[in-house]
Amino acid sequence: MDSSPASLPNAFRARPRVRVLLPQPLPGLGAGALDYLSDISLPPGTFVRAPLRNRILTGVVWDGEPESAEMLDEAKVKPIAGVIEAPPLPDVVRRFVDWVAGYTMATPGAVLRMVMSAPDALDPPPNRRLWRWTQIAGLKPSPARARIAGLLADGRAMTAQDLALEAATSPSVVRGLAEAGALLPVDVAQEIDPPRIDPGQAGPRLSPDQATGSADLVARLGAGFSVTHLAGVTGSGKTEVYFEAIAASLARGGQVLVLLPEIALSAQWFQRFEERFGAPPTLWHSEVTARKRRESWRAVARGVAQVVVGARSALFLPFPDLRLIVVDEEHDGSFKQEDGVSYHARDMAVVRARLGGVPIVLASATPSLETDVNVRSGRYRRVDLPDRHGGAAMPTVEVIDLRLDPPPRGKFISPSLAAATRRALEAGEQAMLFINRRGYAPLTLCRKCGHRFQCPNCTAWLVEHRQRRRLVCHHCGVTAPIPKDCPSCHAEDSLAPCGPGVERMMEEATALFPEARAAMIASDVIAGPSAAAELIGRMERREIDLLIGTQMIAKGFHFPHLTLVGVIDADLGLSGGDLRAGERTWQLLHQVSGRAGRAEKPGLVLLQTSQPSHPVIAALAAGDGARFLAAEAAEREAMAMPPFGRLAALIVSSPDAQAAEAVARSLGRLAPRNKDLAILGPVPAPLALLRGRHRHRLLIKAAKTAPLQTILREWLERLPPHRGPAIRIAVDVDPYSFL
Ligand code: ADP
Ligand code: ZN
Repeated sequence: MDSSPASLPNAFRARPRVRVLLPQPLPGLGAGALDYLSDISLPPGTFVRAPLRNRILTGVVWDGEPESAEMLDEAKVKPIAGVIEAPPLPDVVRRFVDWVAGYTMATPGAVLRMVMSAPDALDPPPNRRLWRWTQIAGLKPSPARARIAGLLADGRAMTAQDLALEAATSPSVVRGLAEAGALLPVDVAQEIDPPRIDPGQAGPRLSPDQATGSADLVARLGAGFSVTHLAGVTGSGKTEVYFEAIAASLARGGQVLVLLPEIALSAQWFQRFEERFGAPPTLWHSEVTARKRRESWRAVARGVAQVVVGARSALFLPFPDLRLIVVDEEHDGSFKQEDGVSYHARDMAVVRARLGGVPIVLASATPSLETDVNVRSGRYRRVDLPDRHGGAAMPTVEVIDLRLDPPPRGKFISPSLAAATRRALEAGEQAMLFINRRGYAPLTLCRKCGHRFQCPNCTAWLVEHRQRRRLVCHHCGVTAPIPKDCPSCHAEDSLAPCGPGVERMMEEATALFPEARAAMIASDVIAGPSAAAELIGRMERREIDLLIGTQMIAKGFHFPHLTLVGVIDADLGLSGGDLRAGERTWQLLHQVSGRAGRAEKPGLVLLQTSQPSHPVIAALAAGDGARFLAAEAAEREAMAMPPFGRLAALIVSSPDAQAAEAVARSLGRLAPRNKDLAILGPVPAPLALLRGRHRHRLLIKAAKTAPLQTILREWLERLPPHRGPAIRIAVDVDPYSFL
């Protein structure tokens, strides 16, 4: 029997279809791509315009078979609205989108939205009008006209502006020639290529250890997927070593991606990059202007952006020929995204490297426990740079026991720390005081009645920021003026700050060392990358003697004359029972300590603590990171916690407290029972109210081998459709925050 479509009655003849993924979370419309009619065949990856409800959106022809004709009523399938002339979305990027969606339990459309993050990047580039010379009869000669003719003699085309400039004449002369027909317009699309990077330029002379490390990384290039932890103490030259790998990779062609945790603070890094490669890399982060984003996105898609440096979102750029990924400071918490699609950029970068069959380098002096365990189990390789460059010694770390050596009443700098700071300053060296708390004081209360300032949107106290003269919520950003009197008991001048914040430390330090030139660095007092770069420049030029800052100062800076680092409260961050509290504190304090003594002069780090025997403090004092990580790993393994077991969090939230609780409870009732699973909750989240939403949490703890996503998906599908006010259920696979 002939079953070709042509023999079927008209009504059953299936017109050719394609699947299109739209960059939309599309709740309720099924998780994946939608079918559209298309009479021309469109290969997967083609960017197309397609209608959705009453809008026309840009999407991507996706892989896989359209639904069969019987499944979908033809009348409901709409035709494609247009095809976009652009490089197709590469196969590996489409597989990455599907993989990330499957793992994070986001919809593929939500992940595609991160890929198509420069919305107008697919519009044709704006045209630029150039002018070409054409011989016409009867043109009156003039010297200016002759100069213009000369400039365009070899058939060149130039903009009117350039012509006028180079012929040293006025725009009206150019206009006159155009009107006479002697200049013909040529419109060209204006693609902007980033400056070429020269990988052939020689780098610095590497030490034998650095050379071995770099050769090891270079040997991985072109040899398929591999993960290498580039280890080595702070200041050992990890950056120089991976620069060599980047150079070697570029020499073979293709593209390189570098993820940095804090782009705004990376001025020193960019300067080194330009010195090494003769041109800046392509930048990608949220503060890049819309125009630049558009240009960069296109340059990446066209394969002409050779090196892209960005924050976590750069991972989703449409690289057609990515050959190497570097994740610097791979342990950094900012690689985890919590809003929207919640993913860990380091982990997803490893996936991207695997799908692309390319090597990835994870650089850190203080690796995450995950990475360390993967190295020890043989899944990742390790390249180690054991010593600081140029013979600089690691700083001496000493503990100040605050119980034996307390600061004066109402102050936070102990006599020993004050003395050491004074010695450094008197020797003409630089010192740094670290307190990981923004604002003046973490808590402000009324001495008479105990009133505290609560955020109206969050379960949090408002923090006094004296510079800005506001009370600020660190969760939602709400601010209020600082009242003079207590709003509750109306006592006058009764409000008292409790505990230290960076602004208060600045006040105390400038009072102690009035002769020192002091500066403060914290995310809310440094407005953007240029302000940060300016401050770093002043520090480098030794226009600052004493730097007081939050964790912003922990990041990879190299200040050769900085010899003393004082940690005001080393215990901050150890309490709270967070799974990674110890690990994170060790990483942060080790990185801060790593700023001291990076050149000839030896460095000293003083940790003020009330728990000198705490394993984290002891590890820092002993300089024994490996032993600390091993002990931490043993503890996690005993509790079957990550990376030995798996975690996922479900966060139910709603502006309506009862609705949130009801949905959380029914989730709890429907929880799967399984010997590989433990379900904790639902309980009100520690941040029970966040940005006006009431929150309840469930924590799922599963064996390493459990099919966590399948279990979660089936569980959520059993939940009856929840009516009610703006209920949201956020899924966080591998959560880092438990608030
Ligand atoms: P890390 O990334 O391990 O903290 P860096 O790569 O920042 O270390 O190196 C620390 C400092 O030493 C930087 O100022 C760097 O320029 C310098 N340095 C490292 N290796 C060399 C080298 N082989 N030659 C010259 N300078 C080097
Ligand atoms: Zn708030």
